Amino acid sequence: MTRARPEKIRCDACPVMCYIAEGKIGACDRYANQGGKIIRCDPLTVLDRRIADGGEIRPFLKSEWDGTLSDDDLFVTAVGSGTTYPDYKPAPFIVSREVDGVDFVTVVTEAIFSYCGVKVKIDTDRHLGHEGAVVRCQGEAVGLMITSEYGSQMMSLGGVDHLTGGSKPEGRVTCDTLMRLCNREAVELTVDGGATVVVQAGQPPIVDGQREERMRVGCGSATIGMFASQWQGLVDEVVVVDDHITGVVSEHQAGKVLGWPDTGIRIKGRRSTPGRYFQVAAPGLGWGGTDIQDPLTILGPWLEKKGARPGLTLLMVSTTGEQYAYYELDDDLEPQEKPLPSALRPSVDLIAENCEPALCTVLFMGGAGGSLRSGVTRNPVRLTQSVQALKTTVTCGGAPTYVWPGGGITLMADVTRMPDNSFGYVPTPAIVAPLEFTVPRADYRALGGHDEAVRDVADVLEHGGEYGADLRAVGPVERKR
Ligand code: SF4
Repeated sequence: MTRARPEKIRCDACPVMCYIAEGKIGACDRYANQGGKIIRCDPLTVLDRRIADGGEIRPFLKSEWDGTLSDDDLFVTAVGSGTTYPDYKPAPFIVSREVDGVDFVTVVTEAIFSYCGVKVKIDTDRHLGHEGAVVRCQGEAVGLMITSEYGSQMMSLGGVDHLTGGSKPEGRVTCDTLMRLCNREAVELTVDGGATVVVQAGQPPIVDGQREERMRVGCGSATIGMFASQWQGLVDEVVVVDDHITGVVSEHQAGKVLGWPDTGIRIKGRRSTPGRYFQVAAPGLGWGGTDIQDPLTILGPWLEKKGARPGLTLLMVSTTGEQYAYYELDDDLEPQEKPLPSALRPSVDLIAENCEPALCTVLFMGGAGGSLRSGVTRNPVRLTQSVQALKTTVTCGGAPTYVWPGGGITLMADVTRMPDNSFGYVPTPAIVAPLEFTVPRADYRALGGHDEAVRDVADVLEHGGEYGADLRAVGPVERKR
């Protein structure tokens, strides 16, 4: 039997149960032995509405609690609160607040998530990898490419299979990847058979070393619809090159409505509806998310009997306006590149101007339907029911969440709206994320809440909790776009 050395004390905040010597920290870097007492290394984070949008992180001084603050000014988040594993006791903080004359209770805990991951939205046309391709970090599988969305490519990373269902290194790297992404750090990911991309929440993606600037204005067909009238009279034909739907103005419905004449152009690829072509090239890092650098490779021979003639002009442009080229047909009906006429320049610039900045978005997704509910109420299913009935609001470090309908408390939160370093880990491996449940006090009693453990905000700020009394204040982050 291994005997603990007498100067070490045991942290019971997760199943690892570290023995920690005086002045040392536990395996997760979140708890320490200070003077024979287990303390949380990070201060409890309070959202202070008097601080401008997301700004200024500073110690919250108890002297600030001078009676001029209302409960509404402050919100005690779970960041730094500690946890209650294995949830046989009430959550670390159960705080009463009066908001607009109604008594509310906020239950605050750092939850340990074995079932969690992130959904990553990467605004880029560049092909990162095929749907279903494995995404790796440091060579370990941490997730996969999922269905593309309009102008963005999506990854689903983490989840219990990668955290606990694979090898030890896979679980460790997956946990580390999730934590760093959720804490808004830059993480390099590689896609099997695809690109290497640096992802950082709220920042542009870097694809194979190239920083992405813009997300596309729309697909090739949508771009034709948006700009057809601006091209009319200035050029005989326009092709918007796109990996998904390449648009051709003379054939497109928008061109037809405007009375655009036929040009005899022919596009390689699968024709969908008039002026809309799929699969003009393979996906890649070139024009419009295709693998081509020379747009003429998607054109077949021009047909004289359908309107092709020497001198006919052609604009080819990508869906972000980053690539464009202008041509005239020579006597053999071969396109010859010419300088872009100044009259067409504004339309190309307008495509670029209508593209939004390319960003990475990281949504934390986790299931909070497990034992942590016992720290909130003695009857766990009632918390689930209350959340599903929208009586209990769930926040993550003060950030709003989307709770999925159906069973359990499966939530998503935008990590850019949470305080710095909101996420931690335990070596089981699992992610530690802040959770707050806010409910009118009468409802809290009705769902079997730990009413005897409720404390007011002033008491929390004055005395802290089981794991210490350090506080920091940050401003709530409003959604920018
Ligand atoms: S890993 Fe962290 S939370 Fe878990 S027992 Fe060790 S110090 Fe405590």
